Amino acid sequence: MKIQDYIPIVGRSTIEELYLLAEKLSGKVVLNVNSTLTGGGVAEILNRMVPLLNQLGVDARWEVIKGNDRFFQVTKKFHNALHGLREDITPEDFDVFADVSRKNIDEVKLNGDVFFIHDPQPIMLVNKRNEVGGKWLWRCHIDISHAEEKVWRFLRDFVVKYDAAVFTAPSFSRELPVRQFMIAPSIDPLSDKNRDLPTDTIEAILAKYHIGNEKPIVTQISRFDRLKDPVGVIQAFEQVRRSFDCQLILAGGSATDDPESEEVLKEVEERAGGNPDIHILTIPPNSDMEINALQRASTIIVQKSLREGFGLTVTEALWKAKPVVATAVGGIPLQVRNKFTGLISHGIEGTAYAIKQLLSNPEYARSLGQNGREHVKQNFLITRHLAEYMLLFLALGRQEEIIYL
Ligand code: UDP
Repeated sequence: MKIQDYIPIVGRSTIEELYLLAEKLSGKVVLNVNSTLTGGGVAEILNRMVPLLNQLGVDARWEVIKGNDRFFQVTKKFHNALHGLREDITPEDFDVFADVSRKNIDEVKLNGDVFFIHDPQPIMLVNKRNEVGGKWLWRCHIDISHAEEKVWRFLRDFVVKYDAAVFTAPSFSRELPVRQFMIAPSIDPLSDKNRDLPTDTIEAILAKYHIGNEKPIVTQISRFDRLKDPVGVIQAFEQVRRSFDCQLILAGGSATDDPESEEVLKEVEERAGGNPDIHILTIPPNSDMEINALQRASTIIVQKSLREGFGLTVTEALWKAKPVVATAVGGIPLQVRNKFTGLISHGIEGTAYAIKQLLSNPEYARSLGQNGREHVKQNFLITRHLAEYMLLFLALGRQEEIIYL
C-alpha cells in the first residue's frame, strides 16, 4: 500500500500534512510494545500503523512481550477488572505479573526515543526508563473509568512513571498526575480487512463457509469473549427468527493473549444447539479478506458487547455502509449515533427489536449505513490517526511549548 493511494479517499492536503509531520520526526525511533501480534484491535492497528509510519519516513518499530499461560490468565483478569468487572485477583496473581514483567524488562530490546507501550500487559517496562532514557507513553485502549480499584491502584503506580497517558476518549480516562492525550483509534480503508471486494470474492468466501445468501444475514464478528456477549446475540436472533426468516453468523478467532476463548466458544455452540441457520465460524488469525467478505455479505451487523474498548468491528461495519445495531458501551456511542449512523440497543429484547426494525425497513437501514460510512470517513480513518500520533510524539519533546503546524 502506498501512502499516495489514500489521496482519492482523504484528499491531497491530508497526505501532505502527514509528510510535514513525519519530517519533523526524522531521526527519531518510535518503539511500540504490546502483547500479541494477532487478534484484537491493538494488533490490528499496529499492523497498519507501523508500515505506514515507516513509509512516511518515521522509524517506527514494534516489539511483543512474552508471557506464559499463567501470565495471560492474570492479564485477562486485569483486563476484565479494568472494564469494571469483579475479578478475584490474588496476591499471587500480582506476583506472576511482576515476575513475567521483570523477565521482559531483561529480554525486550528497548532501543528508541519514544517508547509507546500499549495496554496493561507490558506496562512495567517503564521501570527500565532510567537506564534506556527516551520519552515514555502509555496507550490505554480500555475504558478504565469504572475500573476495579485494586487493579487500578496497582497499575497506577506504573502509569505515573510515564511522561503521558493516551486514552481513546475523555470518558475512558482517570485523573492522573501526568499529561493525558485523547486519540481515537482508526481503521485502514485500504487494508484487506476494509478495501472494496468484488462480488465474486464475497460469494466465494460465503461458499467456503457453506453459507447461502438467499436469506438476510445478521452478523457479529468478535473474539469469543463473554464481554462480546455472543450467547446474548443468539438469544436476540432466536427472537428475530420468530418473525423473519434470516440467518446468523458469529465469526471470531482468539487472540494469543486471551485464554478464555475456547470455553466461550463451547458455550456458544451449546446455546446454538445445531440450529442450521446459526453459523459459528472460527476464523484463523490474519483472515482479513474473509472477515471483510463476511461483513460485506451481511444485511445487518450487530455488536452486542457488554463492555468494549473502541469497538473496531463497528468502525469496519460502518465503513462498509452496513446498518449496525450495537450497545452503548466503550467507544460504540462515538461511532453509532442512535438513529443517525445506526441503532443503539439495550439487552436481548432491545437488540431483537432493532434488528427487526431494520429488516422490515431496508430503506431506513440503507440510510443509516450510508451516514455511518461518512461518519467513519470524517473521524476514524488511519490518516487522521497517523497525524495525531505524530503530533503526540512531537508534543512529548516540547513539554512547555505550543506546537504550530
Ligand atoms: N478480528 C479478526 N478476526 C476475528 C475477530 C476479530 O480479525 O476472528 C478483528 C476485527 O475485525 C477487529 C479486531 O479484530 O479489527 C477487533 O477489535 P475490536 O476493537 O472490535 O475488539 P477487541 O478484540 O480489541 O476487544
